[in-house]
Amino acid sequence: MNRKHWLTICGVAVCFLLAVAIPEPEIHAHACGLAEAALSLSPPERPAPIISRQIAMTVTAYCPCAKCCGRWADGFTASGKPVTANGGKFCAADRSIPFGTMISIPGYNGGKPVPVLDRGGAIKGNRIDVYYDSHSEALRWGRQTLTVTIYKE
Ligand SMILES: [Zn+2]
Repeated sequence: MNRKHWLTICGVAVCFLLAVAIPEPEIHAHACGLAEAALSLSPPERPAPIISRQIAMTVTAYCPCAKCCGRWADGFTASGKPVTANGGKFCAADRSIPFGTMISIPGYNGGKPVPVLDRGGAIKGNRIDVYYDSHSEALRWGRQTLTVTIYKE
């Protein structure tokens, strides 16, 4: 009698559990569906750049004038790209950093990464040069020691 009673209770319990448990996979599936829909709705973007290293560098600035570039003042960077490339926002670094490498420099281009497009005789080691259209802007930048972020390609 006791045993039968228990079986009944168990039976009810199982039914109850099933009733509770059954809708769950649907909820999960629905949630997954939503998540996927949300993902596919977001616009296609380039993957977030991977930070390669952050280092303190001496950052100077230059413009395309003869004072800054001497005989190289031809409107073209050492990479072959014109100084108007990337909206005129790029920098010069030494050969240890390949052309096209993206670097973000606090205070330059709103802190957004710019490509390395140029070289410079004095640009060696932990030193980079940011490009400005005008000599006065380059002068205003002066010489700053900043922690820059170099991204992996
Ligand atoms: Zn200049």
